[in-house]
Amino acid sequence: MSTPVPDVIIHHTEGAFCNSRSTCSAQARNIQNYHMNTRKWCDIGYNFLIGEDGVVYEGRGWTTIGAHATPVNPISIGISFFGSFTSRTPNNAALDAAKKLIACGVAKNFIKSNYILKGHRNVMSTSCPGNSLYLLITGWPHFKA
Ligand SMILES: [Zn+2]
Repeated sequence: MSTPVPDVIIHHTEGAFCNSRSTCSAQARNIQNYHMNTRKWCDIGYNFLIGEDGVVYEGRGWTTIGAHATPVNPISIGISFFGSFTSRTPNNAALDAAKKLIACGVAKNFIKSNYILKGHRNVMSTSCPGNSLYLLITGWPHFKA
């Protein structure tokens, strides 16, 4: 992938939430198995995943094109929170981890300093990343629908 990318796309996995190293690691493997065995992708679709244990789980990482938001896969980093965030937001540990991940991407020049933050629903017809999480990120720096 050509970096730095101009877009950051926020998702939720719409699956089980997790808040410990063991449950989040298990969720990461579940999603990877689903994406690789069922969807037949070469790897987990997201660039990164975030647990409510406050830990960032690496999917495709900074430099490999993801499979998370078709129109913008080649120009974005896809970050997904484990869980379903339609009626609640991720905890502060998860939100802080996501903000630090984005700041790290900017500092290491994988993400443009003037990046645009979007929800998955801003680029495709989907409810992702859930109403509560979506509402929250509309207040984050760099958000633009
Ligand atoms: Zn999504």
